[in-house]
Amino acid sequence: MNPEVVAFDQLEWSDSPGVEQRLVTRTHHSGELIELPVARIRGAKPGPQFTVISGMHAGEYSGILAAQKLISAITPAELSGTLLVVPVISTRAFMERYMQLNPIDQKEIHFIRPGSPGGTYSDMLIDTLFEVVKDSDYLIDSHAGEMAQALYSWVPVPMWGPEDLREKSLSLARGFSVKYIEPRYDEASIPPLSLAFASVGMANVWVECGKNGVPTEADTAVHFDGYIAALQTVGMLEGEPARPEQEVLKGRRSQINSDMSGVWHPAVKEGDIVEAGQYLGRLTDYFGNTLNDYHSPTRSLVLYYWSNPAINADRRPHGYNWHNGLVSLLELED
Ligand SMILES: [Zn+2]
Repeated sequence: MNPEVVAFDQLEWSDSPGVEQRLVTRTHHSGELIELPVARIRGAKPGPQFTVISGMHAGEYSGILAAQKLISAITPAELSGTLLVVPVISTRAFMERYMQLNPIDQKEIHFIRPGSPGGTYSDMLIDTLFEVVKDSDYLIDSHAGEMAQALYSWVPVPMWGPEDLREKSLSLARGFSVKYIEPRYDEASIPPLSLAFASVGMANVWVECGKNGVPTEADTAVHFDGYIAALQTVGMLEGEPARPEQEVLKGRRSQINSDMSGVWHPAVKEGDIVEAGQYLGRLTDYFGNTLNDYHSPTRSLVLYYWSNPAINADRRPHGYNWHNGLVSLLELED
């Protein structure tokens, strides 16, 4: 199939069952081009609209490969409803192998609300994505750990909006073969883009599976199998959805950051449960002299830690603490 290049304001889809692949383009006022790959599979039978997106953070590859696999795996004949797949959102960052932030304006796009296409490049990118997917009933957003990020796989669920929407979002998470799901009730802890999806009635989750920018077959399969289970859950594919054993995480998130630049020596691993006061690691200067020791404030689960030793306390574009983060924790009740 030859994907068709289509300008954002010319985008239209067929009413007949079939598969379409489009590279949606939009030019930012800076002159920089947005290119968003979108596959659409319209099923032979009626049903809801379901969207899978990945590659928001460009080095989170396991979801990207799973989304690609989904495009080729689903046929219109077996599908009830419409499936949209955006395998790579941040194509510019992907091709530059740029970690976590957008290379043009240094923004973290998970924290951007759509609706400001006249803003920076990332504002327009998120607006474009949102406009393409906004009529969906369900959305799964696949993430993983970036090259610098050793992450323990889990599925956060935004528990925001009407009760039935929350229940639908939870049902999307139930098919992922991860140890933990994390319903989030505190609005401030839910990324603004996820809130924007929920605000137009889209049940949604974001899936964190995979680490250090390495797309293993096992992690890719967790994403892919989770999509299939979710499509079965909402009746778009036949079959009984998988319901792997999961534990529900409750507790506040916290992040240990460094206010100094230096070389990070972590002493914990992702998935560890650490006690209050437990040693987490130390920051040294270039020579190995200790600048600071870090300890856990509470009994916590280590969701991820920065496995990359380079810590830069001065690089905080738009206030984002990606380059001075050390450990991301979820507080556990005793
Ligand atoms: Zn991510």
